[in-house]
Amino acid sequence: MTDTHHPIEIAVATGDGIGPEIMAATLTILEAAGAPLRFAPIELGEKVYARGVLNGIDASAWEVLRRTGVLLKAPLATPQGGAGRPGYKSVNVTLRKSLGLFANVRPVRAYGAFVPSPQPTMDVVVVRENEEDLYAGIEHRQTDDVFQCLKLITRKGCERIVRYAFEYAVRNGRSRVTCMTKDNIMQMTDGLFHRVFDEIGAEYPDIKKDHMIIDIGAARLATRPTDFDVIVTLNLYGDILSDIAAEITGSVGLAPSANIGQTVAMFEAVHGTAPQIAGKGIANPSGLLLAAVQMLNHLGLADAATRVHNAWLKTIEDGIHPADIYREGVSTEKAGTEAFARAVIARLGETPSVLAPVSYVPMEPIRIEVEELAPTHRELVGSDVFVFHRGHVEELVPALEKAAGPGLKLVMVTNRGVKVWPNGLPETTTTDHWRCRFETRGTGADRAEITGVLQRLELASVDVIKCEHLFRFDGVAGYSLGQGQ
Ligand code: NAD
Repeated sequence: MTDTHHPIEIAVATGDGIGPEIMAATLTILEAAGAPLRFAPIELGEKVYARGVLNGIDASAWEVLRRTGVLLKAPLATPQGGAGRPGYKSVNVTLRKSLGLFANVRPVRAYGAFVPSPQPTMDVVVVRENEEDLYAGIEHRQTDDVFQCLKLITRKGCERIVRYAFEYAVRNGRSRVTCMTKDNIMQMTDGLFHRVFDEIGAEYPDIKKDHMIIDIGAARLATRPTDFDVIVTLNLYGDILSDIAAEITGSVGLAPSANIGQTVAMFEAVHGTAPQIAGKGIANPSGLLLAAVQMLNHLGLADAATRVHNAWLKTIEDGIHPADIYREGVSTEKAGTEAFARAVIARLGETPSVLAPVSYVPMEPIRIEVEELAPTHRELVGSDVFVFHRGHVEELVPALEKAAGPGLKLVMVTNRGVKVWPNGLPETTTTDHWRCRFETRGTGADRAEITGVLQRLELASVDVIKCEHLFRFDGVAGYSLGQGQ
């Protein structure tokens, strides 16, 4: 692919808050660089919510997204949920999930002496899983005291993102991929991510690999970022990690982000709408501009990507800095959004002399195929029945044991995951939410036995919230033990 293409149509959303200002600056630079693009505007966010569209996206926008396959997006405000507007969904999350944008790629780089940073040589890429985890948005209030959010992790989702991270490393000349999880605690969900990392990593012998628990990993990233190259992690950890990393480079206003799917890709800044400075003409357009550089590369427009990125590096090197990174004695000029864009345009064709210049080559986008899973033998062996009860576990147990009936047996009761029966500790703090584990007495349970338990609990006036069936997969338990079990 070369830059002599007919113009490529891309969808453009100017966003909310500082969005219109930084998007105007970015598009002006792309046009001045001669990037062969045609912009198809779409409306997302506040204006669409105002029309009563709860997810902030009109039907016409989906059509443009499907046609172009590429979206350059400025930040969007998400109306806060809670009591006032519980129905509103984040457009950002809806876009990522509806369009299958499974990989969030966030390169985070510091700029030496030019943008003061505690880690002036930082250069890492955070590859964040983008569709799963606690972001599934499945939340419930279950009792007076307890609220839950489901963390959903799929094997295919792990395979897709981990393979993407390794492919990214290979193509971008990166030598190490570090996986970060909390699998010492979440052995099934995070454990799966770690296992898949080990399995897929074995196919990339030339890449160094390691795994770190996310808490120490995040601390090390902040203090010793040169230990890292590419980091692959789950959705929530990646979200937090990439913001910390971006801030360490000098400002969250500098960091770009690519959201990659099989058929559509979306490019945006890491930061939000910065409502405090909206309309003042002082926002830093760099995060969005560098996202546009990622987009040019995705489209195979390597020359334009190189030209824009080097002109931007030269501008930073010349000390022309927007307010968020302006420092007396380091910067030479405090530039508003438009002046900064003009400075970048004036440097198109130039390369930085101290900061390392970039030189992109055209590359096909990374395509990840994930194989269908082999079916397992799945056997029902019991159920965790969650009940609401204000009081002591001993008041519940007789009714639970009786309800177990002939086929099932009450094996434990936990409260917030800690075993409180049998042999609980008096010190354990409890709440009004009890998980009662019924297991089969024989080899397998049938659903009628579990339904029988639920009916007997109902007759005994035990307040059931939900039940979660217990399965073995090819003989292996698909559920965790209670703490202390
Ligand atoms: P924010 O990123 O908007 O602001 C954090 C801080 O960084 C503020 O001090 C802000 O002024 C500053 N800042 C951010 N970008 C800047 C830039 N380009 N130039 C100069 N300074 C900049 O985060 P927030 O305040 O938590 O969120 C504000 C809104 O943005 C919320 O509605 C949130 O939902 C939304 N948001 C959207 C996205 C997105 O569209 N992808 C991402 C994050 C937050």
